[in-house]
Amino acid sequence: MDQPPVIIVGAGIAGLCCARTLLAAGIPCTLLEAADTPGGRIRTDELDGFLLDRGFQVLLTAYPEAQRVLDYSALDLRPFEPGAVVRFDGRFHTLMDPWRRPGSILDGALARVGSLADKLRMGSMRSELQRAGPLAIYQRPETTILESLRARGFSDAMIDRFFRPFFGGITLDLSLSGSSRMMEFVFRTFSIGDAAVPAGGMQRIPEQLAAGLPAGCLRLHTPALTVEPHRVRTPGGTLQASAVVVATDGPAAARLLQRPRAPAVRGVTNLCFAIDGPPPVEQPVLILDGDGAGPVTNLAFMSSVSPRYAPPGKALASASVIGIPAEDNATLERSVRRQMASWFGPAADAWRLLRVYRIADALPRQSPPWLTQPIWNQRVAPRLWLAGDAQDTPGLDGAMVSGRRAAEGIIAERAS
Ligand SMILES: Cc1cc2nc3c(=O)[nH]c(=O)nc-3n(C[C@H](O)[C@H](O)[C@H](O)COP(=O)(O)OP(=O)(O)OC[C@H]3O[C@@H](n4cnc5c(N)ncnc54)[C@H](O)[C@@H]3O)c2cc1C
Repeated sequence: MDQPPVIIVGAGIAGLCCARTLLAAGIPCTLLEAADTPGGRIRTDELDGFLLDRGFQVLLTAYPEAQRVLDYSALDLRPFEPGAVVRFDGRFHTLMDPWRRPGSILDGALARVGSLADKLRMGSMRSELQRAGPLAIYQRPETTILESLRARGFSDAMIDRFFRPFFGGITLDLSLSGSSRMMEFVFRTFSIGDAAVPAGGMQRIPEQLAAGLPAGCLRLHTPALTVEPHRVRTPGGTLQASAVVVATDGPAAARLLQRPRAPAVRGVTNLCFAIDGPPPVEQPVLILDGDGAGPVTNLAFMSSVSPRYAPPGKALASASVIGIPAEDNATLERSVRRQMASWFGPAADAWRLLRVYRIADALPRQSPPWLTQPIWNQRVAPRLWLAGDAQDTPGLDGAMVSGRRAAEGIIAERAS
């Protein structure tokens, strides 16, 4: 008799990559997704001709797993400039990567953001991490990002003006208490590739992964209520499974597996503004709050990265506030507008707020020893596996790796 399929709960990036690996090995699988579309935390809304990613997200083109899994040219990737613009002391300072933008004005800007010694340290960190490779990075001693930067000798000015908004924006934690290995992995990945978005929005990534699934494999609007190694209960009935992969976000996995402790998460609030006419910054660049005054830590004019993010003649600003502020949207909007007006002048008062996204469980918390001792094993029990970005580096690449690894575990279990 034919075995029932493997059931994967959750069609985010991890679940989709798990399905892909199983299908490539000839193992039938069914993806159960509670929402109305695959992609999980990666989603793009369309509003008045604007493309609004649910929270500012980028694909790092040098992510090792993404390079293997995604068809980059079909995604029509639009890169950011390598580097950032840092706002502090009432001015913008452009900090381009001088190795990829020789002749850029980093030298002068870095002298203002940090010191000459910081510049040398940045260069040696870059070449050391490039030589190391991702696997070696995972073997290194793990401490916090802040301790690691201090141990490397970076000045407080360099940390506060550049690293804090940069890595704080990535890990959603301005105290920089995340894992140094994650920081090293991300810094290396930034230094050898681009930060980019698909021309038509981040959701094109999960759509590309889902497009390869056979008909009937993905069942939307189908939440799993309980899971066991050989069956999954849904509102429509109980489904038999040859194995089960829980590929949800960490808190949902804890509920399904009845774990008392869920991976802690970090949140972010994203405000999208429509601008009539050209944006104040037309280069595709990330803008950082080097003053630490907030509330916005990082800002991007998405239509400068891909024109499809805004209708002709308009621009789209995506402003990220780390955490979930206590104040209501109207109060938050007022303080964001004050900051934007101080950066770009009174023209920012005319920006039209399109939407506010409050994303409480955007990323796992990733404090050390995050990558040394994951809180859960991926193999929960025979034929019951976990996947998701709480199982690896928090982000797209880690979600992809975790999905593939769960599938490989099931393939090995079947072979033994
Ligand atoms: C605002 C924001 C910014 C980010 N920035 C970046 C970035 O710049 N670069 C980067 O690499 N990563 C970034 N990330 C992280 C990245 O989006 C995630 O790491 C990745 O999408 C996680 O994928 P996943 O499959 O592990 O989980 P999820 O995307 O959470 O997918 C889990 C799926 O499970 C479904 N589900 C949950 N419970 C059930 C149930 N009971 N039954 C059925 N289905 C269920 C959910 O609906 C969801 O579709 C960001 C995330 C956010 C939110």
